[in-house]
Amino acid sequence: MPKGNGKRGAMTPHRFFCINCGAEGIPIYRRVSRQYAAGHRKKLFCPWCREMVNHIECVTDEDVKQFKEDFEEGIYKDEAEESLLACRSTWQR
Ligand SMILES: [Zn+2]
Repeated sequence: MPKGNGKRGAMTPHRFFCINCGAEGIPIYRRVSRQYAAGHRKKLFCPWCREMVNHIECVTDEDVKQFKEDFEEGIYKDEAEESLLACRSTWQR
């Protein structure tokens, strides 16, 4: 029986881009999986916005290119505002 757990598969950096300012956040290394997560939103702290804001997950250079195009088009603008408002209300006591 092969030692499945001892074998470390290739870790792929998943890049995250802030939908509010478009800056690249800290990449998260994930094990390669069949589940393709590109375009997935993840709430992360953006050091540039100094707030919790949704980030778009990018895996390939194509994803990054697509994000930058979409960001330039302003398609994340409303979502970014909603995300910031939602995060702010979460932190309010
Ligand atoms: Zn930001």
